[in-house]
Amino acid sequence: MMDWQYSNYSKINSDIQKHFPFENPRADQLETISEIIEAINQGYEYIVLEAGTGTGKSAIAATLSNMSESSYILTITKQLQDQYLRDFKDFRVVKGRSNFNCQNYLNQSCSEGKCITEGIDCKFSLKNRENEIRRDNTCPYYYQKYLALNSKTVISNYYYMFLELNYVKDFEKRELLIFDEAHNLELTLMDELTLEFSKGDLKEYLNYNLTYEKIDELNNSKYTNWIDFINEIKQGYIEELEKLESLNKIELIEKIAFVRHQIGDCNRFIDNLTLDPETWIFDWDEDNQIAQFKPLKINNYTRTTLFDYADVCIFMSATILDWKLFSKWLGIPEDKIYAIRRKSPFDIKNNPITAFEDYNLSRSFIKANAPRSIKTIDEILNKHKNEKGIIHTVSLKCRDLIMDKLDNPRLITHDKENKTEVIEKFIKSDEPLVLISPSMGEGVDLPGDLCRFQIIYKLPFPDWGDKQINQRTGIDREWYDYKTCLNLVQTHGRGMRYLDDYCHTYVIDNRFKSYIKESYPRNFLPDRFRESIEGMEIDLEEKNRLMKIGDEYLNNNDYENGIRFFKQLMDDDLFLNDIYPYMSLSRLYHETELYESEVQIIMKYLSSGNKSEHFNKQLAKLSDMGYY
Ligand code: SF4
Repeated sequence: MMDWQYSNYSKINSDIQKHFPFENPRADQLETISEIIEAINQGYEYIVLEAGTGTGKSAIAATLSNMSESSYILTITKQLQDQYLRDFKDFRVVKGRSNFNCQNYLNQSCSEGKCITEGIDCKFSLKNRENEIRRDNTCPYYYQKYLALNSKTVISNYYYMFLELNYVKDFEKRELLIFDEAHNLELTLMDELTLEFSKGDLKEYLNYNLTYEKIDELNNSKYTNWIDFINEIKQGYIEELEKLESLNKIELIEKIAFVRHQIGDCNRFIDNLTLDPETWIFDWDEDNQIAQFKPLKINNYTRTTLFDYADVCIFMSATILDWKLFSKWLGIPEDKIYAIRRKSPFDIKNNPITAFEDYNLSRSFIKANAPRSIKTIDEILNKHKNEKGIIHTVSLKCRDLIMDKLDNPRLITHDKENKTEVIEKFIKSDEPLVLISPSMGEGVDLPGDLCRFQIIYKLPFPDWGDKQINQRTGIDREWYDYKTCLNLVQTHGRGMRYLDDYCHTYVIDNRFKSYIKESYPRNFLPDRFRESIEGMEIDLEEKNRLMKIGDEYLNNNDYENGIRFFKQLMDDDLFLNDIYPYMSLSRLYHETELYESEVQIIMKYLSSGNKSEHFNKQLAKLSDMGYY
């Protein structure tokens, strides 16, 4: 078990106050900023901050930005970007073209502006400007970018800045790069590095027929074959580009841009693939008829694509869970990371979890149990009949089943296209609506009365049928449970957004209680999450009682009774994978010079997949003594 203690750093750097954006800091905010500054001064290039909801991470990022020469703050959602902009007026947000209206095409966004579709040299663009650049004489997309380029602090999202830094290259290296919601970074980069060819595009542009034989061949071959295939496609696009350009027709501008883009993507992909070729897969999306080349890991790509664009990178999230795995998966050497963990100030009593025991919703049992579970959901909705809430279904099938069987007008749902509008409708409505969705576990902020209860229907395991997830888990077994725990903690946090907020969470899937006791989940789930579960407090009380007895044996040097007691504790469910009985036994064996037994007990702990720096050091000591 990784031993990551909450920080009790208590010094306050005197420079901070004048850079802090609000009048009254929250508990531990100034101390956390001071600790980060001290780590930077000590030469750490990567800082990890796990700080629960309510610790005020945005103000921490804002203060650090104010104290730096220049910075980027990257967020995952537009909602969070806008929140930064609302709270910190001097910062500049930069967004993609699709968020702005073209000045030449009144009903089109800038991503379909005349400069792109017709290749016009638009008078509103920044190029060749001689007159003053003002809001009223400049393309809205370029104007906000111009302001951001000249601003000390730039707020953006992961996707936009990845494209800008790597391909457009208008933005340069800055002093700080702050990743907010940093637990999303790995999956975002996996998406960004993926190369895709749609079967329809290949046919339309190259008259290339992507047959199922070819798909099978790509599926079963190694990267050298993929490179041959991609070079063939690239060559086809190069020839097509020459043809299109020679026609010199204005209406072909959009096609030319697409073909150029595909050639660039092929080149970049081959460079990326050759860097770490064994960790990529080929996948075929049958629904959308798209061939995909995806990375399983991104640890060899983070530095060149993102981290090198700042002197210091700061990763902030409420769910880092295990900073060593987090840094390993991002390719950051452990000795270059300074990791800080801060507790959420929220009272867990306001955010309880009720776990039901009746319905096993695993693949083998869901067909039988799902219809029965509807009654329980109905009862929860009745209990909260005047309140808004969310049902997290995890899968579309479960969403449809619940919608169908409950047939309750309070339920509203969304599809891929209208999610934002449905959330807005939900927020604005005075009715006690209930959002039902497979994808609201993260990225939606519903404070106060907007979410007084939520139902986690199924355990939010990542989709095992997804080849990328499946094969990634084959490389890192703990990755799958890490993602599941991350989903659980994030989902639990949806309805609890400020100090006096409250929200009741119900889990229908009865695997929940046993899952959280398994080895990896026990390591990953923060104590506060487990303490929120009704019934768990009885366990914790009992655990504390047993630990008190154990401490007495240790304090009284009662070796005989102590060894017997801790051996029993190792088999007690309450102490499954807990280092406490092992550590105590190791100490008792050491003090009684039973070194072989001490080695055995340490090995038993480590061989179950647990990690401990203390035990590693102890083994080195025992090795020097000739016992290991
Ligand atoms: S530069 Fe001109 S044509 Fe292009 S998106 Fe902006 S306003 Fe439209």
